[in-house]
Amino acid sequence: QTVLVTGATGYIALHIVNELLKAGFAVIGTVRSAEKGKLLDNFKTLYPDSKLTLEFVADIAQLDAFDEVVKKHPEIDFILHTASPFSFGLGENNEDVFVKPAKNGTIGILNAAKNYAPNVKHVVVTSSLAAVMDYDHLKDHSYVHTEESWNPMDWETAKTNPAYAYCFSKTIAEKSARDFIKTEKPNFTLSTVNPVYVFGPQMFEETAGNLNTSSDLVNSVLNLAPDAKGPFNEPSGGGIDVRDVARAHLISIQDPVKFNDARLVMVCGKQNPQKFLDILNARIPELRGKIPVGDSAAGAKYIEENVLTYDFSKSEALFGQKYITLEDSVVETAKQVLDYKKTH
Ligand code: NDP
Repeated sequence: QTVLVTGATGYIALHIVNELLKAGFAVIGTVRSAEKGKLLDNFKTLYPDSKLTLEFVADIAQLDAFDEVVKKHPEIDFILHTASPFSFGLGENNEDVFVKPAKNGTIGILNAAKNYAPNVKHVVVTSSLAAVMDYDHLKDHSYVHTEESWNPMDWETAKTNPAYAYCFSKTIAEKSARDFIKTEKPNFTLSTVNPVYVFGPQMFEETAGNLNTSSDLVNSVLNLAPDAKGPFNEPSGGGIDVRDVARAHLISIQDPVKFNDARLVMVCGKQNPQKFLDILNARIPELRGKIPVGDSAAGAKYIEENVLTYDFSKSEALFGQKYITLEDSVVETAKQVLDYKKTH
């Protein structure tokens, strides 16, 4: 069976491609640069008999961006739509930077699937906790975020800040996808995977020198001078390991009936830079004395007061496996970066 993965060069997507090839799927990956596309050559060594095809899709903000690729591959059975911009400080025009690629990319791939891919059975959109959390209730611990919660922020507020604009882009993209199913009634089902900040090793060490936005949060702590003065409170939030996020995409297409309409919100723990310091000082002896110790109790108190309250047990039950712990995820992220720095 054949799976189309959009944004196949991304941090999460490379792990998804790995899971798919390991499970025996044929994979078509869309990439926007030949240079970055070379990363996928690594899979030829890992899985010499696998079927992996690359296709170029330059700009997902164009509504017809995916049409040609999907027309060319009527054999596609499943689509995993991961491509979407994620950063916290790009450019001035947040609508062009975040909202258009996120929203149009999602509507575009669903339209292409409906119009040109008769075999598609299930589509997974990589959404985010950003589409779930309510900024106004992050500190209100009587408000429990669940799989039914939605980020209510409007564009007027969101456009004032790139982080808000990113969250808005993920919300509008997921809403558009769910609306598409209701109004267009295609022959396929849909689910979303909504991770919080994703950590864990890069699929291939060569990207450990140029990290994606979430992994770079761990790297920022590695770069702190040992005498740096805290508090190391922000950015705070949750964490989940990239390998669990990849597996969630895989199992969603392996059992589309179970995952029909699912919203898998994935969080394995709460973190901030102080929490990373606590984990790294405890678990990686070579870092002791090279990064600050900070104030563990103060960091924990900050997390308790400021990070959202949630109950995503429905998602945990659907996922059906124990999540990799935040501690292991952060340690493995850091070890890979440290190894990379030793050799580059
Ligand atoms: P990456 O930045 O590594 O991956 C993003 C992917 O989308 C890349 O393949 C990138 O291409 C592609 N992309 C971004 N903008 C465009 C565009 N305008 N046109 C075409 N392609 C584009 O990040 P992640 O792997 O972390 O993110 C993957 C998905 O997971 C995204 O949808 C993101 O919102 C979501 N997510 C990520 C979280 C995290 O903490 N990492 C948390 C929650 C959700 P290229 O490789 O060429 O840059």
